[in-house]
Amino acid sequence: MKPRSQALETAPLREFDLVVIGGGIVGAGIAQDAASRGMSVLLIEKNDFSSGTSSKTTKLIHGGLRYLEQFHFSLTRELCHERARLEQLAPQLVRDFSFVLPIAKEQRWMGLKANVGLTLYDFLARDANARRHVRLTQREVLESAPALSPNVVVSGLRFHDCITDDSRLVIEVVKSACQEGALAINYVEVTGFELTNNRVSAVKCHDRYSGKDFSVRARACVNAAGIWTDHLMSMIDSSWRPSVTPAKGIHIMVPQSSFETNTALFLPTLDKRYVFVVPWQRALMIGTTDTPYDGNIEIPLASADEVDYLLSVVNSYSGEKRINRSDVIASWAGLRPLVGGGTSGKDTRKMSREHLIFVGPGSVIGLIGGKLTNYRIMANQVVDKVLATIPELNSGSIKASRTARIMLGGFTDKQDFLTITAQVAAKARRNGIEPATLDHLIASYGKDSEVIVDMVQEDASLNQRICPDFPQIMAEIPFALLHESAVSLEDLLFRRTRLGMVHQGQCLEAVPKVARLVQACLGWDDTRMNVELEAVEQTIRDHFKSSHTQEHLLSPAAS
Ligand code: FAD
Repeated sequence: MKPRSQALETAPLREFDLVVIGGGIVGAGIAQDAASRGMSVLLIEKNDFSSGTSSKTTKLIHGGLRYLEQFHFSLTRELCHERARLEQLAPQLVRDFSFVLPIAKEQRWMGLKANVGLTLYDFLARDANARRHVRLTQREVLESAPALSPNVVVSGLRFHDCITDDSRLVIEVVKSACQEGALAINYVEVTGFELTNNRVSAVKCHDRYSGKDFSVRARACVNAAGIWTDHLMSMIDSSWRPSVTPAKGIHIMVPQSSFETNTALFLPTLDKRYVFVVPWQRALMIGTTDTPYDGNIEIPLASADEVDYLLSVVNSYSGEKRINRSDVIASWAGLRPLVGGGTSGKDTRKMSREHLIFVGPGSVIGLIGGKLTNYRIMANQVVDKVLATIPELNSGSIKASRTARIMLGGFTDKQDFLTITAQVAAKARRNGIEPATLDHLIASYGKDSEVIVDMVQEDASLNQRICPDFPQIMAEIPFALLHESAVSLEDLLFRRTRLGMVHQGQCLEAVPKVARLVQACLGWDDTRMNVELEAVEQTIRDHFKSSHTQEHLLSPAAS
C-alpha cells in the first residue's frame, strides 16, 4: 500500500479506468476485482477504510440461516459457497466456528422449525464442504454453554459458520487491491462530479486533512458508498429518488467471565428475532438488533434501551447469574444499507437482503445492500456491469476476474501460508511474544505479522500490551501508521487493532500512551496531539453516554 502522501500526489496526475467511491467491504472488493483484471483503479474513502458499516457487523462469514425464513434460497446457497471460498482464501482471518441454537421449554415448536431450516441449510451448502448440523441433548447443550439454565433449555442444535474480523478483512482486501496495482486513499471525500457527454469524466475531491481540493480523471466511476449512496447520486441529479433504507443494528461486548460458554450461540427471541452471542477478541460479542433508523447516519450509537433489550434476551436463557449494564465493556451501532427508498418506519427485518446493482446518472454504476460474506461475488458483478456499460474500457487487455484465486494476507498459496506462519511463530517465540499475541498477529496481519515481530526484535518495548486484558501490542501502532494508511488515533484503536470496539474503558486509559508513540513516530506537534486526544476520547465517551454503560469512567468535567 503506497503511503497516503504519495498516493495523494499521484492521483490528480493520472486518468483512471475506474474510480471507486467508498472504502467499505464493497468498494474494497470492487477495487481488488478491477485491479486484478488489469484496470487502473483509484479507491477513495472519505473517512477511514471500513469506518462505515463494514467495521460494525456481527463478524460472521455465514450462509444467512435467517434468510431462509424469507425464502432467499439462492442467496443462502451463494453465501454458503462464499463462506467455503473465503475459508480457503484467508484461513488466518476466516475461521470455522461452532454455533449452538438452544431450544427453550416454551419454544419446542422452534426446535422443529430450526431443524427443518438447518437441514435445508446443509442441503444448500452440500457441495461446499460444510459440516452438517447435529441435534444436541439438554446435557450436551449445557456442556457447551454452562451459563444456560437447565430450567429454560431442553435441547439444541449445533451448526457451523465462520467468524472473521470485519475491519481487518476490509484492510486486507484494500492491501490486496494495491498489490494488484490499485491506488487507495482514505480521508478524501468526493464532493462533486464533472460530466462530459452526460458521463462522469472526473471526480471532485476534498482532502480532509490538508483541506485541499482536486479533481481526478475517470473513465468509469462506481458508487460504493453504502448508506451514503443516495447522497452521492443526488450530486449528479438533484431529482434522484432515495433508494437506500438504513436499518440499525447494535452490538455489545461483555467479558467472557460474565457468561460461560465454549461455543457461539444463536438465540431465538420471543419477538421472532435472533440474538448472537459470539466469542470474539477474547470477550463475548452480543448482537444484533434490526430496527428502522432515521437519525444522523454519520454517528449511529447504541442506546440504553437497545443494550437492555440484548441483555434481556441473553438473561432469559441464563441461570441465576445475570448480565447487567455494568458488565458491558463496549457497544457500537451500524447501519445496514437495505434496498428500497421511502420506506421509513417499515419493519426492516422483513426487507430483502439481496443486493441491487444499478446504472445511475452520469453512467455511474452503484451497488446497494449485500453482505460482508459475498463481497467478492458482488465485486465481480459490478466490474462486469462497468465493462458492459462502458465498452471502450474493454479493450481486450481486460482479463476475467481472478479474485477466486488470490489469497488475502499476502500469502501466495496454502503452502506459503503454512511455511510463513511457522517461521513467524518461531521468530515470535525467540522474541518473547506470548502465544495469544502471536495468534492475534497472524490472524490480523497475515504475512505482515513478520514485519511486526521484526519491530519487536528491534525494540523490545514494543512487545508491551496496549490494554491489559487483550493481546494487541504496541508494535502494531507504528506498523499501521507506516503500512496501512492509519492517520488518526481512532483509526489505530477502533479499526486496525479493534480495542475501541472490544473494551472502551481500557482503551480510554491506553489513549495517552498510544498517542505518545504516534507523536514519536510522526512528529505530531502539541496542537495536533491535543486535537487527536480530544477526538478519540470524545468518541469513546459518546459511546458510554449513549448506551449508559461504563458511566463511572466519565469524569465530572467530561459529563
Ligand atoms: P460501508 O462499509 O458503509 O462503506 C461505504 C463507505 O463509503 C463508507 O466508509 C463511507 O465513509 C464512504 N463514503 C460515503 N460517502 C463518501 C464520499 N462522498 N466520498 C468518499 N467516500 C464516501 N454481513 C455479513 O456478511 N455478516 C455479518 O455478520 C453482518 N453483520 C451485520 C451486522 C450489522 C449490525 C450490520 C449493520 C450489517 C451487517 N452485515 C453483515 C452486512 C454488511 O456489514 C454490510 O452490508 C456491508 O458492510 C456494507 O458495506 P458497504 O461497503 O456497502 O458500506
